[in-house]
Amino acid sequence: MRLLSSVLNAFLPPRCIKCGKILAGTEDGLCPECFNEINFISRPYCEKCGRPLDEKPSGSMVYCASCLQELKPHFRYSRSAFRYDDKSKNMILSFKFLDKTENAKVLGDWMYNAGKDIWNSGAEVLVPVPLHYTRLLKRRYNQSALLCNQLSKRSGLPVEYTAIQRHIKTRPQVEFSGAARIKNVRNAFQIKSPEKIRGKHVVLVDDVMTTGSTLKECALALHKAGAASVDALTIARVC
Ligand SMILES: [Zn+2]
Ligand SMILES: [Zn+2]
Repeated sequence: MRLLSSVLNAFLPPRCIKCGKILAGTEDGLCPECFNEINFISRPYCEKCGRPLDEKPSGSMVYCASCLQELKPHFRYSRSAFRYDDKSKNMILSFKFLDKTENAKVLGDWMYNAGKDIWNSGAEVLVPVPLHYTRLLKRRYNQSALLCNQLSKRSGLPVEYTAIQRHIKTRPQVEFSGAARIKNVRNAFQIKSPEKIRGKHVVLVDDVMTTGSTLKECALALHKAGAASVDALTIARVC
């Protein structure tokens, strides 16, 4: 069924991935109205965690207050294409839950553009945040793995789809906030093939960074397995 729909899609005119309107052909993924609504993240932002800053700090170090204090950060760089808000939400949710898998191309391209600092800093391997296998069976696809496919095409980096395993079936993070999110995913991940990670500069890929608990927990497991560094790349982030 999915193959059939992707074959059909190849013959249909491209549509705006947010409102569904047929595109004139010059736009990429979004109609002009929707494009104007999306809050793409651009500089100034913290050069480490990617958090948008109100104004560029004076001096050469463009870091946010929390990165200046952080002694052992989970990520070398963290980047996202746009803000996760009421304007961008439906695009992400339809990609994640409603089989809009063809949107991985446009979303992955935006992530690729947002990740320039990562590509320019010796990144070596892409790793998707995994779903628990029971959830994968139900949803039939891992949205983060689809994004990795597109990022791999653009960056030329290999993808290690099974390097991390989610061995504990956690409740969805949306059901929790703050410290409860950290607790919910604690020790939920294990590195299945440490030899694929050891000594490597790893790029962790996910759809949305909310508090970052899931990505941080994955980063901990990767560091324990001997990763040289971990970067985080998501479509969107809560700012
Ligand atoms: Zn639109
Ligand atoms: Zn920061």
